[in-house]
Amino acid sequence: MHEMAIAQGILDIVLKTAAENKARKVTGVKLLIGQMTQIEPESLTFGFEALAMGSIAEGAHLDITTIPLVGECNSCKQQFSIEKYCFLCPHCNSANIAVVSGRELAVDYLEVE
Ligand SMILES: [Zn+2]
Repeated sequence: MHEMAIAQGILDIVLKTAAENKARKVTGVKLLIGQMTQIEPESLTFGFEALAMGSIAEGAHLDITTIPLVGECNSCKQQFSIEKYCFLCPHCNSANIAVVSGRELAVDYLEVE
């Protein structure tokens, strides 16, 4: 279950950031997750809550924003949303496209006390 490893990585960032800001408690974590990471928000939340037990992030609420998958065509330079992992330009049918967003996995901000 790769969400568990990701949850651990996120918790590490959260605890490090909280310590740097001398926070006593983390009450909320805002996450940005690209669609392409295929992370299930429920599994990630479950993993995070389990791992955070006993730390200052115990009980913190995860607010997850999914970033849609957007591609740019290298042939006609148009941007478009990628549906169902179809990596073809809808304008000129080229397969020569670059992923602009959708691969993110980042802690946006923390709510602390
Ligand atoms: Zn194109």
